[in-house]
Amino acid sequence: MIYPWHQQAWQRFQSSADRLPNAWLLVGKRHIGKTEFARHLAASLLCEKNHGLDACGECSSCHLASLGTHPDFYELTPIVEDEDNAKKLLQIKIEAVRQVLDNIHLTPLRAPRRVVLIHPAESMNIQAANALLKALEEPSETVIFILVAHHRDRLLPTIKSRCRQFTLPAPNHDEALAYLQQQQVPNAESYLAFHAGSPLFDHQLDAFELRHDLLKVLIKPRLLAVLDYAAQFDRAKQPLALFLDWLDKWLIDMIATNQGKNVLFYPQYQDELCGLSDNIPIMKFFALRDEVIQTQPYGQHTLNVKLVVESLLFDYLEIVNKGKNYGGSS
Ligand SMILES: [Zn+2]
Repeated sequence: MIYPWHQQAWQRFQSSADRLPNAWLLVGKRHIGKTEFARHLAASLLCEKNHGLDACGECSSCHLASLGTHPDFYELTPIVEDEDNAKKLLQIKIEAVRQVLDNIHLTPLRAPRRVVLIHPAESMNIQAANALLKALEEPSETVIFILVAHHRDRLLPTIKSRCRQFTLPAPNHDEALAYLQQQQVPNAESYLAFHAGSPLFDHQLDAFELRHDLLKVLIKPRLLAVLDYAAQFDRAKQPLALFLDWLDKWLIDMIATNQGKNVLFYPQYQDELCGLSDNIPIMKFFALRDEVIQTQPYGQHTLNVKLVVESLLFDYLEIVNKGKNYGGSS
């Protein structure tokens, strides 16, 4: 599907349909609909009736594409392992890339060509990326690659130079809000603020409660509450990355209020943030944010989650408690 804020981009794609590249690279912020755009593009390339970029929606290929089972369509994405409910995101590895590359040079089964979608392309490890590069260096008339990436700079320059690059825009605030309201998402405005304007996030109920409980701890940090929360987060078997994201956004907002600016992510807690961040030297927040950022590469690990959550919240507790003393002595 093409989201309303990508209609113009889609029209530009259609007008360039007479010169199809061997590979596209679609880049843009997270959660704005890049993969949906790419799947729509893939379906158009697979359609048996249309030679431009507009799927007829009626042929057998269109039907198979809409079901996600087209035999000439390949989608490479990191495999999510689910062991004991513990989620762990993996890379796209060379075996997966090879498996696709071994097949694509055969004659397409139904469609005019074969299409390979890779997302997010930066999750390919170096061996996988090199294997793909070889395929891009020997383009085939009947194979088109579509790479989707959140971070263009994490891709090999040699891969980028082989792709026709296209940046997909994020929706503006009004477009994103209108979309959420149409989907009847409750508290659309504050959700949107929290997700930095990107409307297509998962609103998982479990995670919503976990986040809400974290905010209670952050607003009134106490030792026992910290211990309880770390145990609760650990039991929920969510990736550490979620906690790090929530805490990081809270710290960014504390830095903002500390500097007398408006909060970005938690506008509904502007007053609480002001009260907490008052009197605390700003360097303390930067130091804690550094800790959070250093932990981010381990965001998909499920080991020691409790210890990491405890440790970061202890440091937060200490900063806020000392802040009260700074206030007292000044
Ligand atoms: Zn069709």
